[in-house]
Amino acid sequence: MSRRDRPAGGRGREADTMMMDEEGISVSDKNVKVIKSFDEMGMRDDLLRGIFAYGFEKPSAIQQRALLPITQGRDVIAQAQSGTGKSSLIAMSICQVVDTKLREVQALVLSPTRELATQTEKLVLAIGDFMNLQAHACIGGHSVGEDMRKLDAGVHVVSGTPGRVKDMMEKQKLRTRHIKLLVLDEADEMLSMNFTEQIYNCYRYLPPDCQVVLVSATLPNEVLAMTQQFMTDPIKILVKRDELTLEGIKQFFVAVEREEWKFDTLCDLYDTLTITQAVIFCNTKRKVDWLTEKMRGSNFTVSAMHGDMPQKEREAIMAEFRAGTSRVLISTDVWARGLDVQQVSLVINYDLPNNRELYIHRIGRSGRFGRKGVAINFVKSDDIKILRDIEQFYSTQIDEMPMNVAELI
Ligand code: ADP
Ligand code: MG
Repeated sequence: MSRRDRPAGGRGREADTMMMDEEGISVSDKNVKVIKSFDEMGMRDDLLRGIFAYGFEKPSAIQQRALLPITQGRDVIAQAQSGTGKSSLIAMSICQVVDTKLREVQALVLSPTRELATQTEKLVLAIGDFMNLQAHACIGGHSVGEDMRKLDAGVHVVSGTPGRVKDMMEKQKLRTRHIKLLVLDEADEMLSMNFTEQIYNCYRYLPPDCQVVLVSATLPNEVLAMTQQFMTDPIKILVKRDELTLEGIKQFFVAVEREEWKFDTLCDLYDTLTITQAVIFCNTKRKVDWLTEKMRGSNFTVSAMHGDMPQKEREAIMAEFRAGTSRVLISTDVWARGLDVQQVSLVINYDLPNNRELYIHRIGRSGRFGRKGVAINFVKSDDIKILRDIEQFYSTQIDEMPMNVAELI
């Protein structure tokens, strides 16, 4: 089905009336069906095979509602909490809409971080495994020459970060003539101050009738308002903000009193960390470097990652961590958004995050797709207020860490 089949709609329409269904999900269009199985979504057989081979059996709530409208060519805004299958929704939709016989870029996904862009590229390749589909991650930190070679050779899908994608478009290496679908993952971040101009710089190269899809865990009103400028009568599928949940995640705090005492506390916990895999969050890059050195100095094995590291190194570290070769990762919030590592069931906030939203982005990671997890917050005496604020804001409970915490992981 092509984009031309969809009902006509004007730009800048009045605010939609949203209808809430029995699962608490609001939809702006009464024609949106809830399709409970992948088999009934009209997907190509070789894609369906890839999806099942990847291990997905049944679509998640957001996938049940958004996949069909996207593959039918509608503009869609999908908002649901972290870990509900939004990035996977993107990958599946893209595989469905590209024509593999045409070796030109037909779908473009933009993500705020290089890691997320790479993760999406990998996912597209994995579920598109039986389709003979070419995808490429177009991200900063990689050789421009390599990008050009890949793009010249011809790919169907590009997953990238806005800066590099714009470069490639400017150089006419990323040919945009056949792009029919633009997706912004983590759209709130993409449309925030830092990225708006870069997004626009990419958008203006696209064909005028290009379909646009946005997904995000949170979508503030000012971002929603902005979407009117480049989306046509979008279908909105929204889970209300306050339905973001920390359900299934046991949250604890350790009263360390003073900054200096955090380190020993962490060392005491090291054996617990390595039961599965753990991520330790610090608020600054310098702190990540410092803590990593200090842990290694005490003969603990840890990996570290932050945004100032060379791209090659960041990738190697992620690969090791995903493979399970490294079990403890110290990181800044570069890690907190959208990335998915199945095994992580323990998160330590060595530093409490600077805002409430970051808290759920960090901790949400351990509870992805209904998985359970444990979060441990180190709090200094003057952090207790912040902790109580988070607790109240999310109507959740953060207890003092029990002695037997290892048994809960
Ligand atoms: P989001 O982008 O909303 O944070 P992801 O797409 O990254 O969510 O998915 C979170 C986790 O759930 C990933 O491990 C992914 O493989 C898994 N997942 C996504 N969709 C499904 C599905 N339909 N069935 C099983 N697992 C899924
Ligand atoms: Mg995601």
